[in-house]
Amino acid sequence: MKVYKFGGASVKDANGVRNLCEIVKQSDEKLIVVISAMGKMTNAFELVVNSFFNHKADVEQHIKAIVDYHEAIIADLFGDQRDTIDTLIADLYSQLDEIISQRPSLSYDFEYDRIVSFGELISTTIVATYLCHINLPAEWIDVRKCIITDANHRDANVDMEVSLDLCQEAFLDKQLTVTQGFLAGTKTNQTTTLGREGSDYTAAILANLLNAESVTIWKDVPGVMNADPKLYENVQIIPVLSYKEAIELSYCGASVIHPKTVKPLQNKRIPLHVKSFVHPTKPGSVITNYTERLDLPPIYINKRNQVLLSLTPRDFSFIAEERLSKIFGVLASYRLKSSLVQTAAISFSLCVDYNEVNFQRMIDELKDEYEVLYNTDVELITIRHYTKEIVDKLVGERLVFVEQRNRVTARFVVPAIQ
Ligand code: ASP
Ligand code: MG
Repeated sequence: MKVYKFGGASVKDANGVRNLCEIVKQSDEKLIVVISAMGKMTNAFELVVNSFFNHKADVEQHIKAIVDYHEAIIADLFGDQRDTIDTLIADLYSQLDEIISQRPSLSYDFEYDRIVSFGELISTTIVATYLCHINLPAEWIDVRKCIITDANHRDANVDMEVSLDLCQEAFLDKQLTVTQGFLAGTKTNQTTTLGREGSDYTAAILANLLNAESVTIWKDVPGVMNADPKLYENVQIIPVLSYKEAIELSYCGASVIHPKTVKPLQNKRIPLHVKSFVHPTKPGSVITNYTERLDLPPIYINKRNQVLLSLTPRDFSFIAEERLSKIFGVLASYRLKSSLVQTAAISFSLCVDYNEVNFQRMIDELKDEYEVLYNTDVELITIRHYTKEIVDKLVGERLVFVEQRNRVTARFVVPAIQ
């Protein structure tokens, strides 16, 4: 059994769906197809959530944009043979209407999950129905009944033990299944999500629980590159990476795979292929249990949208273990993720992913005890396998707020280029 994951860019229009079907058709093994919301639909659903939660009048308008987008794809794919798809999609929209017609609960995150999930519910319904339509019988599976999490909405934690039997029962004997990335459910049937861009993680969870032979993530890039091709020229593809290298890269902000994806695969030694959906026969990259030293080129990652925070205890006491554990406790309670930390005698600096609301709340909590300074417009540049030339090229004359180096990795917190 193999697992294929298709992200939003691969199914952004009818031709994308046709291309997906072509790729699926080439496989003669048992296959699980994990799909994200089409194009930028998750962002579109976020607008719905915001309006709904804040009682704004434009909810219907945001929903109409979503309906129109999917309608164009459905019309193109099914022509006048749309009875089945129309019934299924109408049912999903009526579930959404039911939610929108009531008053929102007090929990934004709960509302977020149950509304945004329709992006994946709709995309998988369209794809599964289209596969059947072209005589590739596929079964649609509601992943919310198989991958079980706690109720930590928007960043739910998966209970692998409870999910095991449910996933095996739902997927094991089937030849071709289509299911949602990013979504999961609680034991009490509430919808949860695994964090933005979490569909890769879904593919890895399913592969782990079902002992799949491999996972393939189909992307709009030819594989794992040594830098973001949208930012740099002359980037190169890295054909083989170890799990360790991949987890370091994704943690540093390489967007090619979601950071949580590697662990479930490494634990079962399942290889992860990253391939281009535009050139599906090209080899792409493989992330695998490679323990020998690989001769890798410098790999560099710009992690944007960071904030550099510096805390100094007002009473001049040391930043020691107890203080650190408290600070990290506060960070965790606001779900802020730190990507770099540096301590000195009475000051502590850290770079965190910027989330305006939670960041302000955290500052409010810390400011009585600490003098708090921060800089919001910063980026974190990580260079793995660095050389002097590449550091000069990327950092050069730029102002550097914090710098850290070990034998393999150099990291620089610098003001973002406007
Ligand atoms: N559709 C979700 C998102 O855009 C999950 C994913 O794409 O992996 O964040
Ligand atoms: Mg997406």
